[in-house]
Amino acid sequence: MSVIVLEKLTKYYGKTRGIEDLTFDVKEGEIFGFIGPNGAGKSTTIRTLLSLIRPTSGKATIFGMDIVKDAPEIAKNVGYLPSEVFYYDNMKVKELLNYSASFYKKDCSKRIKELSEVMDLDLDRKIEDLSFGNKKKVGIVQGLLHEPKLILLDEPTSGLDPLMQKKFFDLLEEENKKGATVLFSSHILGEVQKLCHRVAIIKDGRIIRLDNIENLRGETYKRFNIETEDKLYNGLLDLPGVDDVLKDEKSASFLYKGDINLVMKELSGLKLKNILIEEPSLEEVFMHYYEKGDES
Ligand code: ADP
Repeated sequence: MSVIVLEKLTKYYGKTRGIEDLTFDVKEGEIFGFIGPNGAGKSTTIRTLLSLIRPTSGKATIFGMDIVKDAPEIAKNVGYLPSEVFYYDNMKVKELLNYSASFYKKDCSKRIKELSEVMDLDLDRKIEDLSFGNKKKVGIVQGLLHEPKLILLDEPTSGLDPLMQKKFFDLLEEENKKGATVLFSSHILGEVQKLCHRVAIIKDGRIIRLDNIENLRGETYKRFNIETEDKLYNGLLDLPGVDDVLKDEKSASFLYKGDINLVMKELSGLKLKNILIEEPSLEEVFMHYYEKGDES
């Protein structure tokens, strides 16, 4: 069964395109990743689905209900974490969370306590005294406190340190195991690859790829930066999947897409002075792989 169905969903801000002709669905029990570079249309999609903004054309349903007409009914079972959270600064965290909970017809106090413990959030602090990361945590608890059936998260991990990100991902997986469907957006490919069952890639307002994670996982994108003791030979840089090479005699930086073992084999034949293997930005991946139409 599909929890979210989009049919040619389109949103223009005046003449500016937000999203165009989005057609896909998110199935019940899925963790669905929605990725794209900044300005691709991720927030626009999520905000349209939540009826915070109105579609220009096309339609979408959540739980089989129309996102515009049935928005209040849909909202009862949806948790949302916006990309930027704004709060009344002089409230305490627990006052804000109790206020949020008051919109739902159930007792959320136990869940608030559990979630704040997992996320290491002090309920007695004033919102104005919190760092950006801690405000984000307030948003996460706020989005999950009513145990929603569908969780929509807009760039949830920006501003969280790696340890908190891990806790947060564990939390999402737990909610998912309990039955919640999750859609979350990100601009980091590696991040969604860890957690999601299926991923849609959005660029310039359109879906350019939608695939399950087994297929995408074969596409590990990495940036290698190496320094060698001896002169670099070309075997490494001639490997299929190597792109965007910057090199001089004893150092090189390149993007790689494909079987990591093949690169490691080549690297093991070199006398290395230093190596850094990084997650490339999505922009880099787009520039060197997707835009060439090389999706194999
Ligand atoms: P993302 O969330 O992927 O970064 P957005 O959905 O925020 O992308 O933006 C998609 C496009 O819509 C961008 O070109 C952006 O400039 C434009 N846009 C977003 N919000 C507005 C707005 N309120 N008014 C005008 N244009 C907007």
